[in-house]
Amino acid sequence: MIAEVPTQLFIGGKWRGADDEATIEVIDPSTAKPLTSVSSASPEDGTAAVHAAQEALRAWRRTAPRVRANLLRAAFELMMERQEWFALLISAENGKALPDARAEVAYAAEFFRWYSEEAVRLDGSLHVAPTGDYRIIVQREPIGVAVLVTPWNYPAAMATRKIGPALAAGCTVILKPASDTPLTALALAALLAEIGIPAGVVNVLPSHRSGAVVGTLLSNPAVRKVSFTGSTEVGVKLLHLAADRVLSSSMELGGNAPFIVLADADIQSAVAGAMVAKMRNGGEACTAANRFYVHDAVADEFSQTFASAMNSLRVGPGYEEGVAVGPLVNEAARKKVHALVDDAVRRGADVLVGGDIPHREGYYYPPTVLDHVSPEAELMHDEIFGPVAPIVRFTDVEEATAAANRTDYGLVSYVYTADLAAGMRVAEALESGMVGLNRGVVSDPSAPFGGVKLSGLGREGGHEGMLEYTEAKYIATSW
Ligand code: NAD
Repeated sequence: MIAEVPTQLFIGGKWRGADDEATIEVIDPSTAKPLTSVSSASPEDGTAAVHAAQEALRAWRRTAPRVRANLLRAAFELMMERQEWFALLISAENGKALPDARAEVAYAAEFFRWYSEEAVRLDGSLHVAPTGDYRIIVQREPIGVAVLVTPWNYPAAMATRKIGPALAAGCTVILKPASDTPLTALALAALLAEIGIPAGVVNVLPSHRSGAVVGTLLSNPAVRKVSFTGSTEVGVKLLHLAADRVLSSSMELGGNAPFIVLADADIQSAVAGAMVAKMRNGGEACTAANRFYVHDAVADEFSQTFASAMNSLRVGPGYEEGVAVGPLVNEAARKKVHALVDDAVRRGADVLVGGDIPHREGYYYPPTVLDHVSPEAELMHDEIFGPVAPIVRFTDVEEATAAANRTDYGLVSYVYTADLAAGMRVAEALESGMVGLNRGVVSDPSAPFGGVKLSGLGREGGHEGMLEYTEAKYIATSW
């Protein structure tokens, strides 16, 4: 299957090697062995991709919305037809377990379907000016060439969540996927070419020289938009670059999600929600519950039930049937997770399950539950990005909400309670762009996904996601 995936850059509808023939080795995290290598774009390749995208923009922005919609719908259909193939590919280069990979393909494809439906519903407005002597017409126009930069944790979905709305709005794009997972992005490019997306509308540039290539792209006057998903650290750098050219910027950055369990919560459903909120994608998700605040009255029952559910998960190569948790993406990620666990234990946390690096090849880390974690522990402040759940007990819900808000991040929060009014009060007090109230998952292509504070700017998904790729054009007219 790996042999079927193109390994070159995709620029202007053509596959080609990097200008200086540089390559990136792609590693299988389940074995730590190389899978293949792909071309690694140079800044000059970046400039070539901007030319291609600029050239294609002229016709694409004028293509009938219905035609763009039909193409996106075809992309959805073909991706779902090949769900298993894409799932195996994602699992091979990212390491995630097949159930997570299959779910990602369905989620990723859904962005094509949702935005095929949005493509024909881009409305504007017309009203009489307050003075009564002219009309105010507002219509939406495609913003232009967009640079999309994506992370390795959802190699398909983070790309389609940007490509879908950009194409629906009439923009052309240059996608720079993460160097750990370039194959899925290249396979998506091939799929889009196969269904008939015109040359130059989608260009894909893997590169291990991310800073230089993205810097070149963002300084090109033909580029009008940057949409980034990744760490806050890199997002801030890109915002500085974007400022130089006053570029429209959408930023989906890091998280530090609290998961609050009130005293009246149904513990079985809270644990089921915790398993999804923590373990979807093996914990490598920006939406992953990072800190569990559990009311003292139910904390013993919650932590024991949660620990036993975590202990029952089978860890192994992501692409093996029956495996629930694959390896982490690379050794650096595993080292970071283990250092955070060590720090929490040094500060007095009890290890209920997990906590040790297994002796086997590949970057595995066991599902881990830590109880009685000190609020000072580093993992309460830092994104864990792995299968580790720290539990802190509380007695006062207002204090727990204040503790949950004591972070620079604000992507998503989770609350479990049997009292919907109490849940709504907490949900409204939480400083995050999204809240799961009695739900362990919020991501949905039809909903506005995004964060506040250092978690980001703008929204992806829903109607809002498409507006990010448009500009309002206001025409004043009298007749
Ligand atoms: P990362 O910031 O290291 O990399 C993201 C992308 O940026 C990659 O394509 C990378 O090659 C590129 N990049 C790295 N340095 C760059 C530079 N100097 N200039 C331009 N591009 C550069 O993040 P990651 O490790 O791939 O992903 C994990 C992070 O992504 C986590 O913090 C996670 O929370 C976040 N994330 C956020 C969301 C969200 O929607 N909010 C979704 C998924 C992941």
